[in-house]
Amino acid sequence: MASIEEYIPIVGQSVIDDLRLLAERLKGKIVQNINSTPVGGGVAEILNCMVPLLKELGVDARWDVIKGGEQFFDVTKKFHNALHGRKEEIEDRDFDIFMETSQKNIEEVNTYGDIVYIHDPQPIALVRKKENNKWIWRCHIDVSNPNQKVWTFLMSFIQHYDSTVFSAPSFSRKLPIRQFLISPSIDPLSDKNKELPQETVDEVLRKYDIIKDKPIITQISRFDRLKDPLGVIASYKLVKQYIDCQLILAGGTAADDPEGAKVFEEVQAEAKEDKDIHILLLPQNDMEVNALQRASDVIVQKSLKEGFGLTVSEALWKAKPVVASNVGGIPLQIKHKYSGLLCHSPEGASFAIKQFLNNPQYAKKLGENAREHIRNNFLITRHLRDYMLLFLSLYRGEDIEYL
Ligand code: UDP
Repeated sequence: MASIEEYIPIVGQSVIDDLRLLAERLKGKIVQNINSTPVGGGVAEILNCMVPLLKELGVDARWDVIKGGEQFFDVTKKFHNALHGRKEEIEDRDFDIFMETSQKNIEEVNTYGDIVYIHDPQPIALVRKKENNKWIWRCHIDVSNPNQKVWTFLMSFIQHYDSTVFSAPSFSRKLPIRQFLISPSIDPLSDKNKELPQETVDEVLRKYDIIKDKPIITQISRFDRLKDPLGVIASYKLVKQYIDCQLILAGGTAADDPEGAKVFEEVQAEAKEDKDIHILLLPQNDMEVNALQRASDVIVQKSLKEGFGLTVSEALWKAKPVVASNVGGIPLQIKHKYSGLLCHSPEGASFAIKQFLNNPQYAKKLGENAREHIRNNFLITRHLRDYMLLFLSLYRGEDIEYL
């Protein structure tokens, strides 16, 4: 784990000095993060790097995980899809299952934080334990067009929080409490994003039998329908008619995502006759994800819906040409034809991929722009600053001085 000093060459001394000043003001406050999985997916990814850095800065940050069984996570996955606007049959029984597990967690999880920072819908009901402490609900989902039944249900909890946080302006909702817009971020020094020697990249390619002399197109994502892995294969097949290339679809499954295994099988079935398609079920292995991203000629994120899309930031930071859908937080990261190419369909994606593969100079230029865009907006240091300002704002006019 990198120390805060190591970020100075990347973002500059003054950024780190500011973080120290903010952290000083939060001394004595416990910030307790709560989510539903310690590994897999963007939320765990961010907490794994955010919590140790806050601690190093002197903020007493903690991280707890709620418990839930298969039925609970089936329901929360359904809620997740419905909040993203996908059609789902939500029954009364789903709410009962959600509440049964929530009730157990209300009894078992100690919400000791001065600030209790709840991530996403799974632990949202814990707010019933609210006492004199401050509660924040952090929504990582694009809820701009949510299923009304699920949203109304969540609202019965949200209204008891002190503040909410959304990832992008378009995700915010009309709410009776304060809302903050804070984009997620990536850690440039994590195993996932740090520079890697070429030998390490080559070693990972050898491990997965991927050759170097055909262009590599890659999507790294959980095997989830909203990530549209079948759409990625369709896009690749359209490119393949003109350019002999390879496709890597690499992903794991998250502990709170029960659909993964099924989608993985569908993807395997779709790809099975083509030796140039590499379907990799990665165990949580950040270095390998890093190596695969670095080995790629083009990175794709063809999501149908997306929260923020950390995989896009990771690819852009590596100065890769990225083709991604114009959904969720992706357009915040990709300015079309400046820091990547946006698409809306397999045809659009294949056109953009071909443009990059046929014009390496263009691909390189957009990749360079992309890296600077991430440096300026989506690194962990900016995120730490936003979070600490948010925490301080909760005490406006109270016992600690607000900057
Ligand atoms: N990820 C990973 N291994 C995988 C699939 C994804 O480490 O097999 C990481 C990926 O690199 C990114 C995060 O999980 O850091 C996914 O975050 P994103 O916002 O892209 O999507 P989410 O899974 O939260 O919908």
